[in-house]
Amino acid sequence: MLHTDIAAALPEAIEWRRTLHRCPQPAWLELFATAFIAEKLTAWGYEIKMGRDIIAGQQLLPPSADELARARAQALAAGASEQFLAPAAGGHTGVVAILKGDQPGPTVGFRFDIDANETAESADPGHRPAREGFASQNPGAAHMCGHDAHAAIGLLLAKHLAARRAALRGTVKLIFQPNEENLGGAAALVASGIIDDLDYLFGGHIGLALTEIGHICLNIHDFMALSRFEITYTGRPSHAALRPDQGHNALLGSCAAIANLYAIARHGLGASRINVGYHQAGTTWNVIPDKAYFRMETRGVSNEINAYMVEKAHEIIRGAAQMYGLGLDIKPAAVAVVAESTPDLVALGEKIAAGLPSIKKIVPSAAFNASEDFTILMQHVQSRGGRALAALFGTPVGGGHHNAAFDIDEQVIANAAEFYAAMLDAIQGDRP
Ligand SMILES: [Zn+2]
Ligand SMILES: [Zn+2]
Repeated sequence: MLHTDIAAALPEAIEWRRTLHRCPQPAWLELFATAFIAEKLTAWGYEIKMGRDIIAGQQLLPPSADELARARAQALAAGASEQFLAPAAGGHTGVVAILKGDQPGPTVGFRFDIDANETAESADPGHRPAREGFASQNPGAAHMCGHDAHAAIGLLLAKHLAARRAALRGTVKLIFQPNEENLGGAAALVASGIIDDLDYLFGGHIGLALTEIGHICLNIHDFMALSRFEITYTGRPSHAALRPDQGHNALLGSCAAIANLYAIARHGLGASRINVGYHQAGTTWNVIPDKAYFRMETRGVSNEINAYMVEKAHEIIRGAAQMYGLGLDIKPAAVAVVAESTPDLVALGEKIAAGLPSIKKIVPSAAFNASEDFTILMQHVQSRGGRALAALFGTPVGGGHHNAAFDIDEQVIANAAEFYAAMLDAIQGDRP
């Protein structure tokens, strides 16, 4: 079945995307997008889950009260309603919308990430959002990865499905996920149990390796598993000349740890990475430093290799604490895994895509070459016997992802929504 209503509704979806683009908010601060999405989905008859019902467990790198207050003011100024802001208080952002069909069938999830990047947007008139008046109005935040379009894809699919609820078999869960960029949202969704019942899970990204409109790829390889930690050492301060012997030097502990992290013997079965990207220690010239803090990450081309890197890193970090008599706090900050789409779903997707007029080319495979926390959702669904598919939808990307001049061809919004609608038909048995 061709869903001509999706193409017809593209101008409206473009308006949604541009409205979201004007009020970008990063990890755990996506208050405007959360309220905007929840209000529409409620009006369309969806059951809405928000707040602690969908964001559970340890919230990694939670926002400060000041950041939340500023984000709330931005959301209200952009027209968000108090009613839909309230459940996300404290930074428990995101929306899961549930539509139950009149007939029995599988439970199918679609995931759309909604967060912005902590970066500025180009004001150059050559940049369309600036030229046409929908550039970011929030200083230091911008949709430079296309998650505004991802949200619009979800809304377009939602409106389409709500209109044909009578024909729906089973249950659809539309998952509008916060905090993909800092890789904290997916794990929090899993911890809430909200995706435990999924038989199928679909998700995707626009652009990346596919820069032409109408291209699609369902065979994504080279996701990297990733773990991030915040490390804090606590020592004892003392006078650097009078009694250095009485001090416990946290700065020396962190330096010993950091130098040795880069000396971990590398796993023989595949590539790994380690980085310490931020380090802060001590106070002034003549005091033995009693505090040190750094941010580190490991990556691996398999979950096993990344787990090995984490284990060795923690041994070194604990060892340095012991050497210098320091207190130690290791706080997880982000996680992503390596996952693969379920093969029969890839095959089905390629068959369905071949029949869609909006698809001009099925790209046989593409490398992701980075980390993405959709993999955590995929792994969770697959580990419980469900099937998962990650897709790439082609669009030109202006200056590139996370660049100030990132921009898209908005046609990709309809192309992706059409593909998802057709996949839902296929697994509900409407198509061969
Ligand atoms: Zn990104
Ligand atoms: Zn992204």
